[in-house]
Amino acid sequence: MTGAVRARLASKNMHKLAELRAALPDWELELLEAVSFPAEEGETYLDNALVKARFGRAALSAGEAHVLGEDSGLEVEALGGGPGIHSNRWAAGEDHVDRLLAALEGIEGEGRRARYVCELVDLSPAGVELRGTGVLEGRVATERRGNEGFGYDPVFVPAGETRTVAELGDAWKSRNSHRARAAQELSAAVEERAG
Ligand code: IMP
Repeated sequence: MTGAVRARLASKNMHKLAELRAALPDWELELLEAVSFPAEEGETYLDNALVKARFGRAALSAGEAHVLGEDSGLEVEALGGGPGIHSNRWAAGEDHVDRLLAALEGIEGEGRRARYVCELVDLSPAGVELRGTGVLEGRVATERRGNEGFGYDPVFVPAGETRTVAELGDAWKSRNSHRARAAQELSAAVEERAG
């Protein structure tokens, strides 16, 4: 493909912007400027990502840039797959990590298995919709470790690793995270479509 893909991310989350920029080095990605974004009321990550992308597409004039919608969450075995799509609101008013550690107190082994999931939706200037999905399997540690990343990263240990994502760091995340995997899948789809 010739030239960078210009895109706007329909989000206020600077961590997500930084991670997607690192995972998509050939893209020129900026945040979409909006006072408020639609509430996340969908039943799936994809629903929520689509709502954000459509909101962004309507806000940007055609021909300007692609719009990306993103939704992600953490699914924990002992919480029946929760907090899942409610990951952001689940610990409203509390520290997310403290709430998760408290919810899993006394639980060992399989119950601490977890996965991060990310859905990305791209709407091209012409309105063509493409998607990318990424999953990162792992488990929830019993104490927080590390300073990088955001959200649940200080207690999420990816499968095959001993360190948390917050210890593995942003460079590791830019290649291996659920968001990086979704971005790689999406960028391959965008390139294929562009021929
Ligand atoms: P939303 O996609 O903005 O609704 O929020 C996703 C929520 O899931 C975040 O606020 C975090 O709590 C959690 N989450 C999603 N991706 C990550 C990640 O890469 N690291 C840590 N927490 C994450």
